[in-house]
Amino acid sequence: MIGDTVDKVISKDKLIQWIDSLRQTYEVVGPVKAADGPAAFTDVDSHSEIVLNNAAWTLPPKDYLLPRTETLVVYNEKSEDEQIRVPLAEDKPRIMMGLRACDARAIAVLDHVYLDGELKDPYYAARRKGMIMVGNVCEDARWSCFCTSVGDPIEWLNDLDAVTTDIGDSVVVTANTPAGERLLSDTSDMSDPSDEQINQKTAAWSKMAALPKRPFADKLAADFLAWDGPIWEKYSRKCIGCGICSYLCPSCSCFDIQDERVGGEIERFRCRDTCQSCYFTRMGAGHDPRPEKKMRVRQRLSHKFKYQQQQFNIIGCTGCGRCVELCPVNLDIRLVLSEVATSE
Ligand code: SF4
Ligand code: SF4
Repeated sequence: MIGDTVDKVISKDKLIQWIDSLRQTYEVVGPVKAADGPAAFTDVDSHSEIVLNNAAWTLPPKDYLLPRTETLVVYNEKSEDEQIRVPLAEDKPRIMMGLRACDARAIAVLDHVYLDGELKDPYYAARRKGMIMVGNVCEDARWSCFCTSVGDPIEWLNDLDAVTTDIGDSVVVTANTPAGERLLSDTSDMSDPSDEQINQKTAAWSKMAALPKRPFADKLAADFLAWDGPIWEKYSRKCIGCGICSYLCPSCSCFDIQDERVGGEIERFRCRDTCQSCYFTRMGAGHDPRPEKKMRVRQRLSHKFKYQQQQFNIIGCTGCGRCVELCPVNLDIRLVLSEVATSE
């Protein structure tokens, strides 16, 4: 459970005014309802229909930390005073609202990849530094969710600056950090919750903690997935290598770097990439260490469930279920993990 926290309550019909008051100081981003398809994290204004219902389908929030493409360096050989420019992201304060516990966990995974060790990614670091994270307690799980099988979503809520809990006509807002507390003081519409409202909040959190577990829960030690075994061939026969599972995974972080001439300058940019592509590991001289599809499917799961545990002591999958829902051939990683768990 969360340690020193501050609870306030706000009525739902005042939420938009609260968000409007926050927009005086911060850029506010959240999952905004789309006319067609899942809600997408985007800038929120007073006309936006922000989706704070966790049973709704949302794209992952990672665009705001790892844009799909971004320029790293610009080279202008004709410039006399500044031949090389490094366009670092603006360090402006931004509130990310509507994160789920699993999204918070995914950002913790990305933090390890981009900020651990001596070599930190300055582009990621600049965006992360100014980010305040506000998330929701999930009222209901989607059919594809399996967060409680890969960790403790209640513990993951600790990574958020503030957490909102829907209690009917009102929302309890729990601040975990000084940055979260500052958000509560930005409006006079917040009040102290009653005992009954705190009990409702506790009940919602307990309900989330009790989401059902899969057969592989509590078995995911770093040696869980074997290097050899029939599952890789079996499941990779279905995979068409489209990469949707990794492009839309909140914790997948692979990218490619390319140079392109733009007008009179050369831009070095990075763009999202996927280990499921048959070109991802092919080297300049033509050698490819993962020429077969089963090797690429094994890589994606082994990276999340084995290598990231060994490297950072964290499971790289948060059980958000996005890859389960969006794989065009229904390759469900829960089935792969369950088959391994029950074949011992
Ligand atoms: S989304 Fe499905 S088919 Fe596409 S690469 Fe991932 S597992 Fe393969
Ligand atoms: S369930 Fe799929 S999309 Fe979600 S974190 Fe795990 S691997 Fe990524």
